[in-house]
Amino acid sequence: MTAKKNILIIGGGISGITTAVEAAEVGANVHLIEKLPYLGGQVVKMNRYFPKLCPPYCGLEINFRRIKQNSRIQVHTSTVVNKITGTKGNFIVTLRSEPEFVNNNCTLCGECEKVCETERLNEFNFNMDKTKAIYFPHEMVFPYKYVIDGSVCAGKDCNKCTEVCKYNAIDLKRKSFAFELKVDSIVIATGWEPYNALKIDNLLFGKNPDIITNVMMERLAAPNGPTKGKILKPSNGKPPKSVVFVHCAGSRDENHLSYCSGVCCSASLKQALYITEQYPESKIKNFYIDMRVSGRNEDFLSKVKAEKNIELIMGKVARIKENSDNGSLIVEAEDVLSGKIRIEETEMVVLATGIVPSRLELKNIKYDDSGFIINEMLEDGIYAIACSKKPLDVSASLKDATGMALKAIQS
Ligand SMILES: Cc1cc2nc3c(=O)[nH]c(=O)nc-3n(C[C@H](O)[C@H](O)[C@H](O)COP(=O)(O)OP(=O)(O)OC[C@H]3O[C@@H](n4cnc5c(N)ncnc54)[C@H](O)[C@@H]3O)c2cc1C
Repeated sequence: MTAKKNILIIGGGISGITTAVEAAEVGANVHLIEKLPYLGGQVVKMNRYFPKLCPPYCGLEINFRRIKQNSRIQVHTSTVVNKITGTKGNFIVTLRSEPEFVNNNCTLCGECEKVCETERLNEFNFNMDKTKAIYFPHEMVFPYKYVIDGSVCAGKDCNKCTEVCKYNAIDLKRKSFAFELKVDSIVIATGWEPYNALKIDNLLFGKNPDIITNVMMERLAAPNGPTKGKILKPSNGKPPKSVVFVHCAGSRDENHLSYCSGVCCSASLKQALYITEQYPESKIKNFYIDMRVSGRNEDFLSKVKAEKNIELIMGKVARIKENSDNGSLIVEAEDVLSGKIRIEETEMVVLATGIVPSRLELKNIKYDDSGFIINEMLEDGIYAIACSKKPLDVSASLKDATGMALKAIQS
């Protein structure tokens, strides 16, 4: 029954990948669309993910193998959807692919990167370092090949990478192209982006390099991150002797995100433990409104409470200032339990910014006031999953993704 079903999945993060393999393994033909040149979404950028603190390749590697082994899955990277027409059982989708100048002949020899003279900010590491215009995004990249950033590459005027490539793997003449797919059902798995911390004026992000966000902390702690896993102050490359975590940075706040992202408290506790693992003597303070951890993540709370150098303080941070005498940061908050104002001087601050749903600008897709998709408002045959619907952790996202594979097949 399912062999003839054609399903389009928009978003190649862990949720979209899961729906793709689950649907294809019971006979559906799947087109998996990803706007970036590689799959993996936000999870691939984590150092380790809770509850078990696995490195990201734990869940992703096996799924990449399942994709490779299944001819029913076609992956279209660097691709977005421009239009959806038709109805359930007969959707016609117009897509556009940006040129990928490196093909599958690439052996990762790296000769191209050596001769490339153009540099770009590395968005994978939240701009904390740079890569060449031709770069290898990370070890787990799928498809496994170099990528060229067409927005900065000098193209045929330079041509050095093409000249040095012995495998005929680079074609700088490639152009973007449009194509159409006919599908029975559509799954939206476009996930999330971090809230833009520059919008939170009182927390000074962007004004001082030692104020970073939680997603940046994941990259600093990751062995393939900009500091090879050493958590160092961006301002001077030294280990931080003190760190303040600001929970709910911009979350549960009518001026920013009115909702709770559900994962940030657990992420902040996890990250506090990253620091004590590397620097047991560092003084860490977590300011929270209320501690929203559940299920197996309560283990973090117990572990954190047992750490002598981590203090949990109930209180919303009002502002962060710079100490002009010594360059350190001053965090001001009310300690709710004592009723006193706390002024903490610290070397580094981590802002726990929340999850903002990525948007598909298509007239068929309806969003709630916060930008999440409400499935009941979608046309029959189109289904949103995981963080495109509401903030979820990986395990809840995967359950949703698997359930929705069934729905898409039955469509
Ligand atoms: C700081 C932080 C730490 C976290 N730590 C953990 C943790 O330790 N454990 C845990 O379980 N969860 C954690 N989470 C939550 C976890 O990141 C999410 O559950 C997970 O990313 C959801 O995966 P997803 O595939 O739904 O979305 P994403 O990972 O966001 O993937 C979506 C994909 O869709 C692509 N896409 C977006 N728009 C388009 C488009 N228009 N066209 C095509 N493709 C598109 C994106 O490029 C991306 O590849 C954390 C979250 C935060 C904020």
